[in-house]
Amino acid sequence: MRQLRLNCVLALAVLLPAVAIGRPGSKESANPDSVSGAPPIRGFSAPHREDENKLEGRYKRAISPEHIREYHRALTAKPHPAGTGADFEVAQYIAGEWRRQGLEDVVIRRYDVLGTKPVSTMLEMITPKAYRASLRESPYEVDPQTKDPAIGSAWLGYSASGEVTAPVVYAHSGNPEDYDLLRKNGIDVKGKIVLVRYSNPYSYRGFKALTAEREGAAAILIYSDPAEDGYQRGAVFPDGPWGPETHIQRGAITYDFLVPGDPLTPGWASLPGAKRIPEGEARSLPHIIALPLSWHDAKPLLENMDGATAPKDWQGGLPITYRLSGAVQAHLKVEMDNTTQPYYVVEARLRGSEFPDEWILLGNHHDAWEYGGVDPSSGGASMLELTRAFGNLLKQGIRPRRTLVFCSWDGEEIGLTGSTEWGEQFADDLRTKLIAYLNVDSSASGPEFHGAAVGSLAPMLLEATDSVDDPGGGSIHKAWLKAAPAERAEERDNRHVSDANLVDTRIGSGSDHTVFLNFLGRPVIALEYEGPYGVYHSMYDDFYWMNHFGDPAYKYHAAISQLWGVTALRLSQADILPFDFQFYGNTIDEFLSELEKNSRFDPSKLDLQAAHSAAIAFAEAAGQVNTLVTQNLAAGNLTPKQLEVVNHQMMQVESNWLNADGIPGRPWFKHLLYSARYTYAHLELPAVTEAVEAGQWERARQQSQILMRAIEANTSLMKQITGELQPGSAFRTASPQAK
Ligand SMILES: [Zn+2]
Repeated sequence: MRQLRLNCVLALAVLLPAVAIGRPGSKESANPDSVSGAPPIRGFSAPHREDENKLEGRYKRAISPEHIREYHRALTAKPHPAGTGADFEVAQYIAGEWRRQGLEDVVIRRYDVLGTKPVSTMLEMITPKAYRASLRESPYEVDPQTKDPAIGSAWLGYSASGEVTAPVVYAHSGNPEDYDLLRKNGIDVKGKIVLVRYSNPYSYRGFKALTAEREGAAAILIYSDPAEDGYQRGAVFPDGPWGPETHIQRGAITYDFLVPGDPLTPGWASLPGAKRIPEGEARSLPHIIALPLSWHDAKPLLENMDGATAPKDWQGGLPITYRLSGAVQAHLKVEMDNTTQPYYVVEARLRGSEFPDEWILLGNHHDAWEYGGVDPSSGGASMLELTRAFGNLLKQGIRPRRTLVFCSWDGEEIGLTGSTEWGEQFADDLRTKLIAYLNVDSSASGPEFHGAAVGSLAPMLLEATDSVDDPGGGSIHKAWLKAAPAERAEERDNRHVSDANLVDTRIGSGSDHTVFLNFLGRPVIALEYEGPYGVYHSMYDDFYWMNHFGDPAYKYHAAISQLWGVTALRLSQADILPFDFQFYGNTIDEFLSELEKNSRFDPSKLDLQAAHSAAIAFAEAAGQVNTLVTQNLAAGNLTPKQLEVVNHQMMQVESNWLNADGIPGRPWFKHLLYSARYTYAHLELPAVTEAVEAGQWERARQQSQILMRAIEANTSLMKQITGELQPGSAFRTASPQAK
């Protein structure tokens, strides 16, 4: 999976002013900017900024596109879905490279989870004509990898096993409103086979499966329409980046928007001997038979229907009239082996020289639907080059101040499984030690940069994009600003693009950041370059595709390696952690304003004025902190003890956004600001928003109270930090905790 592309929030940036800063504890007071000419870096005193610039320069120069191509070649050598021997070989390869590169504590962690793999799949049309679906992708001479007999057929992770013969109904995207329209047309899908398409706007296929299950359908077929990712978009593989006639978007249909990870260990790790719940109690397991189809296999079903013509916006890219139902009966048989499989997470670190118990975690997943050219091996190749560069620095005696932890996850495609189990296993450590998680799933499928971060890290991410060159010219920051308006127009987001809203602070689910943000309350960042990409989760997403369309020179991969590493270095080397809680407070205020614009919001039932005031008070208190941080770094008069206390207090802020009880109905998701809709789309202030949308006003008022208490706890924390940073203040080490 990859993270769903999201609209960006409008939030007011209040960036730290450029000021003269001196070495902490020194008498230096001359303006260092006039000496170095280097711009300030958030969180760094002047002399440390000089060191940081040199370090980042050395790091960036070490990144080589040619090396990345070699790593990418190795990672995409074989199809390697989660739980297969080939997937374990990839894990071993990564562990071997990390040892060779000089990383420390390299270990492969095994989780025995409820896996999923196909035994046999079959689909045939019985009436009005006989047609046997191929459920296979066609090979092309120019790309020998497409001929590999190891490539699997069409299947969806955690489909139920079963056999059904029933009429086929076309249900457009398979969203609830689509079934409403069918009902209005007198069509009931109970006991039938629904045929839906991967839709634009995007909706997670697991939500389509859940919706079909709730509607009582016997089975669901999900196909790739050429209007979405095929010839209507442009040239198709092997002549272009879009999906050809037989490409199949595999994927899991796990209900991981309810609880991710191993379905049988919700909230704890799947270690040997761990308690497992019965499958019947597993909320994330689907109960419907499901198959993905190419348009090649969907077309005979669609064109042989003879019922009512489907509405205009249900018509797709095939040269036929799309109809709602009629005449077509199909016979579908799916046999799955959904039993225990081992998943392997590879872990390594560079132990911090000064603060070994403060961690920055960098991760990418290694399991792929087939070769995983973009998803996820582009990110894996960027990561192996990043670790090679860090390993070389260590060999030259350069060790980060804080610990860098590297993880290559498994089973991301199945249910964010490896990262979730690992996060649950090390929850206690992560809650207190993890400063931030930096996720790269796919790193490069084209030239358009996209960066996302929680509100507190958005300004530092933006600042880091100034320090890395975009392969198209200029800095990533400049290229991003230039490309963003077109991208937002495409997403029907007509807000003016500026530095204040360039970083996407709307974070849904669909990748490995989820456990860290939503379960553990740790700040996250996600990075990616994107472009035309119609072969997602098909066998055509491979080395050939990358070398002809996605990023043939591996320059965008390299830019991600550079930016990812620079971001990690800023977090690991900073004097004061580069959080901006004033920006975060303003972001929350925006979330509240947008909730008030929700069509279900009723101001006579829920008054958010007090919550607005709380968010603004938090932003103001945090503004004080920003000012004092700047002044103290300039004056250079903070003691190591003060720095330590302030940094630990800052690390507490994200934890305070957690509610131990979680979102009503989804207790695993504990974050009060961030969650995902069932479609994976971002969902801000999830508990209040879901109550509002359900018209449950008493619950909405209760949840807004919980939110306000968390905001107030963080305002108190800001005041405590202010106390620490004020001249002559006594230390206070206790931090308020949200309930
Ligand atoms: Zn992925």
